[in-house]
Amino acid sequence: MGFFEKGKNSELRKIDGEVECYYCGEARASVVCHGCSIPICSSCVRLEDYGFGCDGGNLIPFCPKCYNDPQVNTVLKFE
Ligand SMILES: [Zn+2]
Ligand SMILES: [Zn+2]
Repeated sequence: MGFFEKGKNSELRKIDGEVECYYCGEARASVVCHGCSIPICSSCVRLEDYGFGCDGGNLIPFCPKCYNDPQVNTVLKFE
């Protein structure tokens, strides 16, 4: 896969160091959008539950734009 960090059980990619949220530009980014890879802060991030199957919720971080884009946030297709 390559995307996953070793030892982490979610796809939340933590950001090391000081990176401003690309979306609001005000807060410090804490995760990276799964769709477009921009750094986003914890207030801008939209978490989508991709927890299909037996291992429970698997939260994927999206920026608000990707979250509302069915091309990117494919979980919307299942609604
Ligand atoms: Zn933000
Ligand atoms: Zn995005």
